[in-house]
Amino acid sequence: MYHRITHACGHMQDHHIDGFTSQRERKMRWLTSTQCRSCFNTQKRAEQAEVAAQNDLAIAHLARPALTGTDRQVSWAESIRAQRLATCIAAGSDAHIVEVLRAVQDAKWWIDHRELTNEELRNAAACMPVPTVPVRA
Ligand SMILES: [Zn+2]
Repeated sequence: MYHRITHACGHMQDHHIDGFTSQRERKMRWLTSTQCRSCFNTQKRAEQAEVAAQNDLAIAHLARPALTGTDRQVSWAESIRAQRLATCIAAGSDAHIVEVLRAVQDAKWWIDHRELTNEELRNAAACMPVPTVPVRA
């Protein structure tokens, strides 16, 4: 059954809510304390942009080579690389790890390894050779 909910942000949105009366009432009460989908998405995008800006700032001092791949891969991998390098720096990873990771130019590599834990990523980097050619942005 559809219910029109007025969310905490003041917007109304229809929700399909099933279940027993008490379950429906609980879900409707909870929904009134949340933002509508549009406001939620807007806030989430703003938070992601803020995190991306912080990541970019954290790695601004690192020369990073241009990534290779399709435009879509490169765009996605750049945000993954920024986030992972920023995390490594924040965690105090040793210079070898950061040096190896920042030299990885293959966008597909960053995408394929995006779900590694930080420890797994450090372990993967520890096994990779340090680039012999100086990294240039
Ligand atoms: Zn809203």
